[in-house]
Amino acid sequence: TESLVWFRRDLRLADLPTLSVAGERALAVFVLDDRLLGPSGSPRRDFLYRSLSALDNQLSGRLLVVRGDPAEVVPRVAKIVGAREVHVSADYGPYGRKRDAAVAEQVELVATGSPYAISPGRVRKDNGAAYKVFTPWFERWLEHGWRAPARTGTDMLEWIDPDDVGGLNLRAAVPMPSQPGIAAGETAALARWREFCADDLVRYDGERDRPDLDTTSRMSVYLKFGNIHPRTMLADLGDRRGRGAEQYRRQLAWRDFYADILFQRPDSARCNYDNKFDAMRFDAGRDADALFEAWCTGRTGFPIVDAGMRQLAAERWMHNRVRMIAASFLVKDLHLPWWRGARYFMQKLVDGDLASNQHGWQWTAGSGTDAAPYFRVFNPTVQGERFDPTGDYVRRWVPELRGVGGKAVHTLKGVRPEGYPDQIVDHAEERREALARYRELG
Ligand code: FAD
Repeated sequence: TESLVWFRRDLRLADLPTLSVAGERALAVFVLDDRLLGPSGSPRRDFLYRSLSALDNQLSGRLLVVRGDPAEVVPRVAKIVGAREVHVSADYGPYGRKRDAAVAEQVELVATGSPYAISPGRVRKDNGAAYKVFTPWFERWLEHGWRAPARTGTDMLEWIDPDDVGGLNLRAAVPMPSQPGIAAGETAALARWREFCADDLVRYDGERDRPDLDTTSRMSVYLKFGNIHPRTMLADLGDRRGRGAEQYRRQLAWRDFYADILFQRPDSARCNYDNKFDAMRFDAGRDADALFEAWCTGRTGFPIVDAGMRQLAAERWMHNRVRMIAASFLVKDLHLPWWRGARYFMQKLVDGDLASNQHGWQWTAGSGTDAAPYFRVFNPTVQGERFDPTGDYVRRWVPELRGVGGKAVHTLKGVRPEGYPDQIVDHAEERREALARYRELG
């Protein structure tokens, strides 16, 4: 019997359980949905197009790409090929759930697996209640365990030729990015993962907070688009001992955790998870806009913040430690609302992911789960000295500061290199202001 395999955030063929249940003949389809593509930002759109091209190659040109509203397009395509079932891996995001419910009203939608090691909603207390704090959730997550990778691949199914589907295929019209970018697709993801395991995993625990060393895995974009499944990575980690593997497993758990939190509270993509923060006073208006602009363009006069924002502009990715520092600066030094920074990150980041981004921001702002207490205000200079002790990270991204040696690049004591802006705020003063506003919340 014929079926449809509808690809979404799972652009790979290995370890894809949907393929095990899709029958013998299937049509592979991807829907370009403007409601997702619009807000995606060009770095993510480019990466998506590259991933689609890689997937189409793996399928020997048998990927059907259509454009439109999935609730209309998917049932129509299913009807044309006479497919009784549409196979997907489940989407737990707020929009994805609504979209899938609309599709499921018209066709038999079969969800197998998800983009997570353990699907949202599964890690629960004995009484069924949801966790709100990461560490106990993480212990439960480890205890729960995950399946071994599914043994799937290209040859499992006979793929229907999309050219037989009434001239619908837009594959040739997918706007392939002209600029070279990060290599996308399953082969690239696996190659990067193997390289990281061989070269940097042993050092991960000690170095993951060091942007100057730049030895984290950079797997986030591959995970975002499902070029690899976290279970494949966990299986590899399972064979290894040591703190690097343990720490990496923990980071993958954060990804699952935030997806679970967003699943419990879809509103937390836009609103404070902790509604005590709804009364927080933020700045707005022309002065606030000028500060925001300085932050976006990496011209705050705080070297580690500026280096991070310039890395984001250039690479469409930022080191995790610097994401935390830059986010904290926006909220606690500039008194701007976290969602303003989060929106900017989502436009720019190639790995932009609603759950990890919004909750990464809320963690920093103090309004999220497991929040860093609001009164713990990062000092950007001290953070810079501590986590970029060589100063190499700042010099890499802020050319005006290349003449300043060592970690003096963070304090800039007695030097104001040409073309580099003065500090736009006084950190000590803004820290007091942030604490005063926090106290008003009671
Ligand atoms: P590694 O250190 O190699 O980590 C391995 C993997 O673990 C990552 O690829 C990621 O999937 C997961 N991971 C690590 N840290 C976190 C975390 N704190 N939360 C969730 N998952 C994590 N991550 C995104 O994938 N998309 C985002 O949009 C995003 N926005 C963020 C915004 C802020 C303000 C902050 C503080 C963090 C954000 N993160 C986001 C989490 C983290 O910064 C990135 O996952 C990480 O920097 C990606 O680089 P890497 O793959 O080299 O990380």
